[in-house]
Amino acid sequence: MAYRYDHILIRYGELSLKGKNRNNFIKQLYDNVRKACSCFPSLEFEKQHDRMYIYLHDEQPEQVCEVVSKVFGISSLSLAVKVQPDIEEIKQACLEILPLNEDKTFKVAARRNDKMFPIVSDQINRIVATAILKNSDWKVDVHNPDFKVVIEVRHDAAYIMTNKIQGAGGYPVGVGGKAMVLLSGGIDSPVASYLMMKRGVRIECIHYASPPYTSQAAQDKVMELARLVSAYQGELLVHVVPFTNLQLAIYQNAPESYAITIMRRMMMRIAQGLAEKRHALAIATGESIGQVASQTLESMNTINAVTCMPIIRPVVCMDKVEIIDLSKKIGTYDTSILPYEDCCTIFTPKNPVTKPRIDKCEKYEANWDFEAMVQQCIEQTETIRVQPQKKEEDLF
Ligand code: ATP
Ligand code: MG
Repeated sequence: MAYRYDHILIRYGELSLKGKNRNNFIKQLYDNVRKACSCFPSLEFEKQHDRMYIYLHDEQPEQVCEVVSKVFGISSLSLAVKVQPDIEEIKQACLEILPLNEDKTFKVAARRNDKMFPIVSDQINRIVATAILKNSDWKVDVHNPDFKVVIEVRHDAAYIMTNKIQGAGGYPVGVGGKAMVLLSGGIDSPVASYLMMKRGVRIECIHYASPPYTSQAAQDKVMELARLVSAYQGELLVHVVPFTNLQLAIYQNAPESYAITIMRRMMMRIAQGLAEKRHALAIATGESIGQVASQTLESMNTINAVTCMPIIRPVVCMDKVEIIDLSKKIGTYDTSILPYEDCCTIFTPKNPVTKPRIDKCEKYEANWDFEAMVQQCIEQTETIRVQPQKKEEDLF
């Protein structure tokens, strides 16, 4: 019989979770892995209380690993060969899957989960190591081997693994409720999106567009960022808010120095309305302390004052270089740095206040019926569904 990698073994992450939470965690992870792998029709899935297995059948192991390694809630994964819990089969499979004609070092680490298995772990190690030494020029290196051959003997099967791929960590998306992320075309908000999902929070995105001051190309760029980010949770909804009229009204009714602050307050009011409609529990942004005038603590206070919803700022204390590094790691950086015009950049005043006051904002906002315009923005919002592999489609 020819042995080859026919399984992926998935180890769960952050298992400090206990009781019912743990079951929810595993169930959600199972659903998320299946959904992420929907482009591989032949796969079969099995979940156990401490790990999950994917039966590969005809699918390419590396391609499946690439997709699974993006799913949150997984600490690590390994390609594995499943054999009968029989020492001869175990030995034979090891000899077949290892590249024995190369010059390598190795170590065997067996674990006997099934204590009924008649051979103890140390002995399994010795039997398999002896077979490898006899059939190759390989040498043993217990500290830093090229191949760590892990053998797990369970009641119904034995698994042989030779590599460990790091998982995405975090919690399975969905166990932490839902939040609305304000997604611009910049570097920070896609990173904020990623960090929210990593904590197990499902996200929907809100983008404020101000045509004709912002172009279709700028919106397409935001959609591409949304698509890249959706690789970490599967399908993602993007709510595009027609923001032009409200933005023009701000510039007619408030002094230039307060325009950005009031614009942000309007963004939050709209975000809260959309969050309530979509049953989301928080709003998240890519703001970071001190990065620009509107991101001081005074500004944040003034902006937060219009909503009682939690506003989460996942990158609030990160340096720009740290945010950039993360955006490169998650694959959004190259798209984020494409030139574009944002609704903020178009109306940027020369001297925005760095310490805006709530009472002043309220005074300027009393100059017109902004509530009606906020409502109109919410009602006229267009929702677009984005998928990791597909082009976007209009929803409602
Ligand atoms: P980013 O890199 O995410 O664009 P930034 O450093 O350019 O952030 P700002 O433009 O001041 O900072 O925006 C701060 C945050 O406000 C953004 O991270 C985003 O969450 C939100 N935001 C700004 N503009 C928009 C927009 N047009 N649509 C949706 N959210 C926006
Ligand atoms: Mg921006």
